[in-house]
Amino acid sequence: MDSEKDRDKQEHLAELRSRLVKAKSVSSEELAARIKEIGFQCLRCGECCAGDDNSVVVFPFEIRRINNVTGDSWLDVAEPPSVGEWDRLGNFHTLEWRIKKCEKSCKFYVYAPSECRIYEAKPLLCSTYPFYLEDGDLRCSECRGLGREIDPLEAEKIAALLLERSIVEIQEAISLLENYVDFQRGCPGEGACIVHDSEGEHRIDWDEIPALKRDLKFIG
Ligand code: SF4
Repeated sequence: MDSEKDRDKQEHLAELRSRLVKAKSVSSEELAARIKEIGFQCLRCGECCAGDDNSVVVFPFEIRRINNVTGDSWLDVAEPPSVGEWDRLGNFHTLEWRIKKCEKSCKFYVYAPSECRIYEAKPLLCSTYPFYLEDGDLRCSECRGLGREIDPLEAEKIAALLLERSIVEIQEAISLLENYVDFQRGCPGEGACIVHDSEGEHRIDWDEIPALKRDLKFIG
């Protein structure tokens, strides 16, 4: 790696490590109080599990947890995103995994009655929706359940999960960057799909991910 890229990588790692220290110092009690103030009750409308906007980032340990519950294979649970870059050998490189979708909804969402098929193993992102932390500050995504009275115990549970999620997200980003091996950019080709995550590189043949192959519209 050239020295400029190496310097950028070290700077990014240092920034992530300082964000990790900050994330670990957030008070769970204060967070729970803030969630209680905002209020939230899940209406089980399923709007966060369906539609074009549904895109759930899922980490390797979460994929394995879902594998254990459903018995599905890795690629039956998660898929690579379609945003990435090509290398000189015609391989497509992308970052992290998304829960697989079926038509427009998450593949684990059941419409009637509206429920999550992997409730006990669902990813941290789903367990904490519509809340998220940005640099330690509480933020909310759009959700019809916001503003409703919440049980204090439920607020505490969400606060604890939010803290766990923010720490895990930074730790995963650190591991991804530490394991990331850069490549020379090239053009679309018939190589493979390479997913970079916190565990390193996963190389997937196109035959195993025909939907992404179709989306990228590059071979046949
Ligand atoms: S994993 Fe469950 S909660 Fe998360 S988007 Fe899918 S159905 Fe919804």
